[in-house]
Amino acid sequence: MSPRHDLNRLAELAHNLWWSWTPDARNVFRRLDYPLWRDTSHNPVRMLNLVAPEALERAVADPAWLANYERALARLEAARDARGTWFQRECPEQIGKTIAYFSAEFALHQSLPIYAGGLGVLAGDHCKEASDLGVPLVGVGFMYPQGYFHQEVSADGWQQEIYEKLNWGDAPVTQALTPNGTPCVTAVPLGSRTVLMSVWQVRAGRVTLYLLDTDLEENAPWDRALSARLYGGDRETRVQQEILLGVGGVRALKLLGIQPSVYHLNEGHAAFASLQRIRDLAENGAGFDAALAEVRRSTVFTTHTPVAAGHDAFPFHMVETHLAGAWGDLGTYRERFFALAQYDNGSGPMFNMTALALRTAGAVNGVSQLHGEVTKTMWQPIWPETPREQLPVAFVTNGVHVPTWMSSEIAALLEKHLGADWIDHHDDPAFCQRVMDIPDGELWEARQALRSFLFGFIRERARNRWTQDGVAATRIVAAGTMLDHNSLTIGFARRFTGYKRPELIFSDADRLARILSAHGRPVQILFAGKAHPADDVGKHHLQDIYRRTLDPKFGGRIAFLEDYDLHVAHFLVQGCDVWLNNPRKPLEASGTSGMKAAINGTPHLSIGDGWWAEGFTGTNGWLIEGQADPNDHGAQDWADAQALYAIIEEQLVPAFYERDDRGIPRRWLKIVKQSIRTVLPQFSARRMVKEYVKTMYQPALGGQPVAR
Ligand SMILES: *Cc1c(COP(=O)(O)O)cnc(C)c1O
Repeated sequence: MSPRHDLNRLAELAHNLWWSWTPDARNVFRRLDYPLWRDTSHNPVRMLNLVAPEALERAVADPAWLANYERALARLEAARDARGTWFQRECPEQIGKTIAYFSAEFALHQSLPIYAGGLGVLAGDHCKEASDLGVPLVGVGFMYPQGYFHQEVSADGWQQEIYEKLNWGDAPVTQALTPNGTPCVTAVPLGSRTVLMSVWQVRAGRVTLYLLDTDLEENAPWDRALSARLYGGDRETRVQQEILLGVGGVRALKLLGIQPSVYHLNEGHAAFASLQRIRDLAENGAGFDAALAEVRRSTVFTTHTPVAAGHDAFPFHMVETHLAGAWGDLGTYRERFFALAQYDNGSGPMFNMTALALRTAGAVNGVSQLHGEVTKTMWQPIWPETPREQLPVAFVTNGVHVPTWMSSEIAALLEKHLGADWIDHHDDPAFCQRVMDIPDGELWEARQALRSFLFGFIRERARNRWTQDGVAATRIVAAGTMLDHNSLTIGFARRFTGYKRPELIFSDADRLARILSAHGRPVQILFAGKAHPADDVGKHHLQDIYRRTLDPKFGGRIAFLEDYDLHVAHFLVQGCDVWLNNPRKPLEASGTSGMKAAINGTPHLSIGDGWWAEGFTGTNGWLIEGQADPNDHGAQDWADAQALYAIIEEQLVPAFYERDDRGIPRRWLKIVKQSIRTVLPQFSARRMVKEYVKTMYQPALGGQPVAR
């Protein structure tokens, strides 16, 4: 093999996002040109466009680099072969079938900005774990050419949304082809016209994502813009996007020669898939009832939020306008179809996407045990005749993809003390018991290193703002330059929205100031997160936090990191000491950032909402439990804040700063170990995807039509 030929496969590695969760593959790029790796925010496709020939020559001349490269390529070959995977062993009768996973966002890597937050991260982690387990899944979503916005915060704390047009040459995407080798372009009826969509392909190990894009010359300018941005448009744009995703997604799969046995709707955005599928069945001779029963048999729906605004509802006339061309033989059943989506949320009957998904899916789940119960209460009116205990709503608690979120420092400790094959057993709680045997000294060293990486990252970003953008010095303080590498650091990073109560910790500003600047035992807080571009209330919450970072009262010990995304999230969940979450119960359906933190030894400090209601054991973190009437928001906020201060003062600070003669916080590390031991097996995407396969996919893959 000549070195030239050899290096041709670099592009192949770079174009399969599998590299991002495989250390050997990641190191191929890291060690090729480390400064460039950092400058491109770890985007190997972009790196390969920019790398100097000398760097490539240096790599080829380095036997260690070459050996690593060969290893990565061999592992890629192995990773493509589904034989012997968990799925093939567990479900041999289902080999050859396909599950289509529809989602409006996928967060696989920061180089593919087609996600906004938690929903996308969940979808991305689901796909990666499906790949690892050999689950035959394909993703269907959008390739938003402008993606989601980048966030900058102005001097007075107002969020600025910056949209950048994606440079296709720098993204790990290629054009998807039909079975006869031509580019896949699908035509979708929208209103009285037809919109064309090209289909892009992204590889994530064994899983392929198919991403729709309306930015084609053949389309009118307004249609080209339909898929430009994620959550960037008005209601009219939104309903059209959802038709394109559901109807267009089903059509695109057909053109690609893929015949899914199961359709998994990740949130209601893609529920129009059911329309196209009922239509297809009707055009093949089925009556409406038989078609609906078949669609239900093979549809799985996951709902993600108890917040009413998270469930899209449109006026019927708006949907009718845009669906005008979509009916075909289903036209005679229009009224019956509309009835499937009708739901009155108190402001008159609307076309509700969640209602449509609930009525066309045979299997429905919430994303935590508590959220499963909340979902039953919330949507009971959909099934007025069914007693609560028979409602077809289950739960599969979310999990996080461990190879993606686990730092290499903690992974190295697990490898050393649990065995080189720890990843194969990490969802077994008995196996994870051995986390308790990791020596305190080694664990503390890893934790200190992770905190230091975080502060190195913060400082570098602040320096760039200072030198390149020339912002005022006060804003460099807000960006975290006065933070201390050795102080107890609390992280709070999530979407800015009212129910997550970002300002809760400021309820008693004087008490907080005393906590932060306690002599010899300081505490510092890092905030990050975006507000939805249309959510001015969320932006006011953000502004409030930003102003606090500038308030000298808090001693420069509070910072706001701009442009929270997967990249920033990695540093934060790994490098903070404690992860704070204080939503208004029960509005946090699950939450996943706390899981990412906990598996890295950053224990969770949270209200008992979402996953933490299941995850808290009494010794693996802290539970905030203010006693008040939950209907009195002011009283509840105050009580929760008091409980939060008490935990910080009486538990966190003493345990963190109490050191033995070697400088090791023994008591603290016990909590850190309990956090890793309990959260790693139970809140891993491995446990989650196995549960989806067994309880949601298996019945749909083999089951009988569902009549209700
Ligand atoms: C994990 C993650 C989220 C979701 O976190 P929650 O705990 O559900 O709020 C949002 N954004 C990014 C960038 C993430 O990595």
